[in-house]
Formats: sequence, structure tokens, C-alpha cells
Amino acid sequence: MQFKDIVGQKEVKQKLIKSVKESRIAHAQLLAGKEGTGKLALAIAYAQYISCQNRSEDDSCGECPSCHKFQKLIHPDLHFVFPVNETKKEGDDETSRRGSDAHMQQWRETILENPYVTESQWYAAIGIENKQGIINTGESSEVIKKISLKSFESEYKTMIIWLPERLNISAANRLLKLIEEPPGKTVFIMVSEQPNRIISTILSRTQIIKVPPISREEIAVALVDRYSIDPNKAHDDSRVANGNFNKAMALALLEETSPYFELFVELMRASFSNNILALLEWTSKVSRLGREKQKELISYSLAIIRESFMLNLGLEDIVYITGDEKKFSQNFSPFINSNNILQVYNTFNLATEHISRNGNSQIIFTDMTMKLVKLINKL
Ligand SMILES: [Zn+2]
Repeated sequence: MQFKDIVGQKEVKQKLIKSVKESRIAHAQLLAGKEGTGKLALAIAYAQYISCQNRSEDDSCGECPSCHKFQKLIHPDLHFVFPVNETKKEGDDETSRRGSDAHMQQWRETILENPYVTESQWYAAIGIENKQGIINTGESSEVIKKISLKSFESEYKTMIIWLPERLNISAANRLLKLIEEPPGKTVFIMVSEQPNRIISTILSRTQIIKVPPISREEIAVALVDRYSIDPNKAHDDSRVANGNFNKAMALALLEETSPYFELFVELMRASFSNNILALLEWTSKVSRLGREKQKELISYSLAIIRESFMLNLGLEDIVYITGDEKKFSQNFSPFINSNNILQVYNTFNLATEHISRNGNSQIIFTDMTMKLVKLINKL
């Protein structure tokens, strides 16, 4: 991982690079910031920069033997600790490998695929979606063991602890001394989303570097570069992502509009223009969809109506749609206002209720569309 691979964060990068140039590498550092800001990627790029045999002013070389190993996350002087959830099995003792080491291959694959991975994505990757990962005492023993070894190839050994807020108390206490006074040429880099949950004795021994949300402009540029998406969509996605690049990537890869978008637009246009023929056609088309799809269509419609109402109120910052959906909602927003919003909601909700009770779709949707015509035209 090189600094150039990481979106934005110019100031943090400069701070880290400066510490290497000035030979002031603190032995315990904490990168603290919200999800999707690139903290883990920065920690790895920093370790790679420290170890690079041919580093430049602003990045590692990417080509020396050390960089090659770092880019596969297999450098023998790069160590990781991260939360997992393994219950002990019978016959296990303190030395049994049930912690990070048991998941190292999965970890490397996950991080190489997406260095912005979230805690819950990581748990999903190791199949413990519904559990809370921890870093336990056995893991601390492993850390102590690894740190007491001499470095293999580099001048420095780096121990990256991802989410130290997941250290249990005894594991944290066990690491205290080591973090306070590590053997020479050892760097602990902790990467945290909730530094307030790290025990204070550890926190007070680290140098804290705050990693801010990424700017909208930097996210938008990165989305266009990486996914060649339309700059307007990238702009909208970056606003919704709110500084979180993991979220921005997910939005960029999302299908632009829902399969129900066209149906919703047809309904609203016909209602607005009071086009009874078009409304009847719409009703008979929707009546042929299955009940589940009918319910999905309604819940989709309610979501777009909610967004249109927010736009009507001028609350663009809490609008979560982009592209065509947003464009439509913007034009449509004058017709969804405080005079009719509740009744429009009730009309759709009533239809869902009747569908769930196996009512006749043709009747339910005819009734719904006739009410909508009145409501939409009631300004
Ligand atoms: Zn290098």
C-alpha cells in the first residue's frame, strides 16, 4: 500500500512522512477517525514507507524487495492484530492459535481487496456477522512474543493493532508495559474508530493522529478515476457518502436506479396530469405483479416521496438519492408538501395493508390512484 493509493488525507500523509524524514518515529501511535476515512490504509502505507529501501520525498518506491512484500502484506516485520471471535475448544491452551494468526490469510485477502473495510464487513468475511469480535489475552501473548524477536529484514518492526477498542481489559493490561517501553525499533500503530473506549492507560501512552472525513471533492475525483462513472453521479455519491470512502464505493457500484423507478414516475405523471386512461393502464399493469412486488413498489414509492418532501423543505443534506431519482424528485418536490404529505403516506400505506390482506389488486390500485390524483393536485 502506497500513500498515492489512498484517497485524500494529504495532511495526515505529510505528518507521517515528516516523522520518518526527521527520524522522530514515535513508538506508539494511534490513528483515530471515523469509518471509511482510510486509517488502516494509512497505517500500512506508513509502515511500508518506514521500511522502503528507496523511498522518495513523498512515498515508498513500490519496487524494492521490501515494498513487494508489503504490497502483499507478507513482510516478516509487519504484524497485525485485529478482533476475531473464536470460542476456545477443548484441549486448547493459551498458545493455541485461535486469534488473528488463524485468520491471517483471510485478513490479507480482505484488506488487499478493500483497505477501507468496515468492522462489520470484516466480521462478515470471517463468518461471525452477528457476533462482536474481541482481541483477547492469548493475542497479547502473541504480540509480546513477536515483538521480542529481532526484526528479520527491516530496521523496524511494525505492529498494527486494528480496533484496539476491542482489546479486553486483561489483554490491554498485558500490553501496557510493552506499549510504554517497547524494544528498540518497534512501532505500534493503533487504528481506532472509538478511541474513547480504549483504556486510558494505553491511550495516554500513544501519540494520537486524527484522521478526518475525506473531502467531497477528493471522493468525487477518486470515484471518477477508479470507476469511470458519470461526474454528476460521482458528485452526488460523494455528498451522500459524507467523508466515508467505503460508502462512496458502494454507492458508485450500485445500480443507478431502482427497477420500480419507471413505474413510480408513470404513476406520478399520470396523477399530476389527471390522465385517467394512463392511470387505468398503470393499474392493470401493476395488478399483474405479484403481491410481494406490489408491496416493494409501494415501499419504494414512499421512500422517493419522503425524499421529495425533504427537498420541498429545502433539506438537501439529508436526501439520500442520486442520479435520475434525485432529478425527478427535485422536479416533483413542489407537489409533495405539508398540505398533502400525511394523506399521501396514508394512501400508500392503506394499499399495502389491503394487499397484505389479499384484497383485489385491481380495486386496491384503482382506489389508490384516484385518491392520489386529488392529493397531488391539492396545492
Ligand atoms: Zn520500496
